[in-house]
Amino acid sequence: MTTTTDTTGTFERLYGHAPEGVWAAPGRVNLIGEHTDYNDGFVLPIALPQSVRAQVRRRADGVLRLSSTRVPGEVVELDVAALAPGGVSGWAAYPAAVVWTLRQAGHPVGGADVLLDSDVPGGAGLSSSAALECAVAIAYNDLHGLGLDAPGLALLAQRAENEFVGVPCGIMDQMASMTCRAGAALHLDARDLSARHVPLDLAGADLALLVIDTRVQHDLADGAYAALRAGCERAAELLGLPALRDLAAADLPAALDRLPAELVPLVRHVVTENGRVEQAVAELERRGPAALGPILTAGHASLRDDYRTSCPETDLAVATAVAAGALGARMTGGGFGGSVIALVETAVADTVVKAVTGASAFAGHAEPRVYRAVPSEGARRLS
Ligand code: ADP
Ligand code: MG
Repeated sequence: MTTTTDTTGTFERLYGHAPEGVWAAPGRVNLIGEHTDYNDGFVLPIALPQSVRAQVRRRADGVLRLSSTRVPGEVVELDVAALAPGGVSGWAAYPAAVVWTLRQAGHPVGGADVLLDSDVPGGAGLSSSAALECAVAIAYNDLHGLGLDAPGLALLAQRAENEFVGVPCGIMDQMASMTCRAGAALHLDARDLSARHVPLDLAGADLALLVIDTRVQHDLADGAYAALRAGCERAAELLGLPALRDLAAADLPAALDRLPAELVPLVRHVVTENGRVEQAVAELERRGPAALGPILTAGHASLRDDYRTSCPETDLAVATAVAAGALGARMTGGGFGGSVIALVETAVADTVVKAVTGASAFAGHAEPRVYRAVPSEGARRLS
């Protein structure tokens, strides 16, 4: 999917001059490793072909003007020197956050005219927020010659979302958007950001990865995310560990005996999920992408039964996809709605899409939007 908006013309009409350049940063889907990044664990995302594009021109007067083709006609004007967490509401908080964080980190950056254009669906668990932050971050990095590397920019974008927007996200989304490569999944250690690009040739194995956006997002998402994160931190503290990543699978049963009942399923999910990431990478390299199927479905069961971040719409999409012949399926992203991924043989892709669409209609759910995910490249300058 690509948008056909004439955005260069839009930039000139809005701001009266041409942009200095265009930068793009993609959304992502995570194959496996959900809610593990903020536990210092492992994840395995791919970047999507869909991206946020940022056209940017520096300004010398300290004014930051922000516009998005998603919000036609609105230009948000901010004084860069007066930016403060909580001071900008709505979508403009995300790009403003990046500029604020760069300045907090001591980089001498000022205002700009910015126009955003995107085909990453927002709020669908595909990380449009990180894509937006990363597009603005690389634009500023290039225009001001800051020389920050990709992990440095990802950390900066995460800090922007954490401290300025107020969302306590982990590092996966920004690292995926900044550093993924076409034709590969990113095996990332969220503790030290060491990463390896694991080749993932879906088409060569006659497979397709469907992204099924359920188009629902339940209200409890924000509060529940913070509560789950706090629960994990408490469990690690009670076990005397720096993070749940430090709990080995072999020590899990004994550890669970020492924890209060409400923390048991959380810890079980995180430890088994880290195991599934390692298993997925090993299977991918040994037997190829089809072997990921059962690991995806097991990951979903853990999210549904232990971590409790799934919901009726995602559970139905997963169960229907698997019953219709998918090799495996799971909810991806933070949860309480959002998107499901299903790994299918290309020949049965249409059957699976029809089954999932039919089942959601029968249940009275919103009609899902379905994309085919191809592992794509990370953030880059387009022109
Ligand atoms: P996700 O990251 O899963 O898409 P989030 O809730 O974290 O969901 O981020 C979505 C928010 O990001 C939107 O509500 C909006 O504020 C902002 N956003 C994403 N894409 C755009 C865009 N193209 N233009 C303006 N704001 C955007
Ligand atoms: Mg987000």
